[in-house]
Amino acid sequence: MHELDELPAGASGREVWRALGRAGLIEQVYRDGAVPAGVDATRLGRLLAAVDERFPVGTTLSVCVQLATVLPVLASGAGPAAWALARGVGGEAVTALAATDGGTGSDLTALATEVRLDEAEIEVTGVKRWITNATAADEFLVLARHRPGRHFTNFTWVLVPAAAPGVTVTPADTSLFAGAGVGHVRFDRVRLAGRHVVGRRGRGLPSFARHIGTERLAGALWAVALCRRTLAATRRRLAERPHGDGVLWDLDGVRQRFAGCVVDVRQLDALTREFGDRITRGRDSGAAALLKAAVGRTVDRVLAECAQLQGADGFGSGGAQALRAQAAVFGIGGGVTEVVLSAVADDALAWLADLGTTSRS
Ligand SMILES: Cc1cc2nc3c(=O)[nH]c(=O)nc-3n(C[C@H](O)[C@H](O)[C@H](O)COP(=O)(O)OP(=O)(O)OC[C@H]3O[C@@H](n4cnc5c(N)ncnc54)[C@H](O)[C@@H]3O)c2cc1C
Repeated sequence: MHELDELPAGASGREVWRALGRAGLIEQVYRDGAVPAGVDATRLGRLLAAVDERFPVGTTLSVCVQLATVLPVLASGAGPAAWALARGVGGEAVTALAATDGGTGSDLTALATEVRLDEAEIEVTGVKRWITNATAADEFLVLARHRPGRHFTNFTWVLVPAAAPGVTVTPADTSLFAGAGVGHVRFDRVRLAGRHVVGRRGRGLPSFARHIGTERLAGALWAVALCRRTLAATRRRLAERPHGDGVLWDLDGVRQRFAGCVVDVRQLDALTREFGDRITRGRDSGAAALLKAAVGRTVDRVLAECAQLQGADGFGSGGAQALRAQAAVFGIGGGVTEVVLSAVADDALAWLADLGTTSRS
């Protein structure tokens, strides 16, 4: 994508987002160029692969969350949400997705961030941690509770301007995700007009569940691109690295381990293609959970093998060992691998039955 060629290799998520928006590349990720119509998986995959090829993992993470989750959730709102959506599609504004709370992130319905909803005014109080784009955001799309208890209707999306009195952002203490602006956000009795509620009150959790499926698909598309380019780089190195009378690639043990990774990535790619439509059109949350479980496991295996096959050089700055640590986010962000495996276990019999149907047809 030549639109990205002008940017330096270390460009931040915000810089890349602006370039993509100005070139009209954000809207083309959605069917008919309309965010509410949902993503076109092929075009989304192509865009994420282009960003991944050229920029740090953190920068791709920043773009991925906005494309897959933030813009589609904003599309369910009017007023400030519609305005943030329009500026987001144009690359002029960055909105961060603030779902993970100060407590355990995996236990979403225990989140403590509160919104007091009155007709004319709302008030938001709470803490969100490990939020991508936090330090670069113009706005935060906050998942908050308006009622105590775990019932799925107790949660509502709220759009909080980063400049509102009572909002404090602290960068996360990590060097792993350059370009992503990861940070923690405190909302201290932030008072806003009632029109900052996004979508209908009480629809926060169903809406999140619906859109997190797209984020999981996006993660899978990105994971395939990341594994592919890392394997290609590893293969080049193995073909050049002298060993005995030849090179490392001549060793059968090395070739077999590498081939195992190729098999793993091809399997993930096949699963991504099989489930693309089920997730984007059918809103199949079970398929999204299974895909996310496959991503976490595949990325871990493939990048660990690539790092090992690069020997000491893998520890060089920006090398395969650092990439492996960054890529561990595929097994954490947007739902840890254990949680999505639990969802697969819940549906285990249905998955097996589905397999029988597929293999007979
Ligand atoms: C780089 C990065 C970017 C992120 N960006 C965002 C963002 O933009 N927006 C946002 O809202 N959040 C974001 N997150 C937060 C992310 O979604 C959470 O980290 C994730 O949901 C897990 O929550 P947690 O970190 O609190 O882990 P915890 O819930 O504390 O879990 C810790 C560990 O306990 C185990 N565990 C937890 N639950 C179970 C279970 N049910 N069964 C078995 N084992 C379990 C797992 O091993 C898990 O890794 C980001 C995180 C990272 C690292």
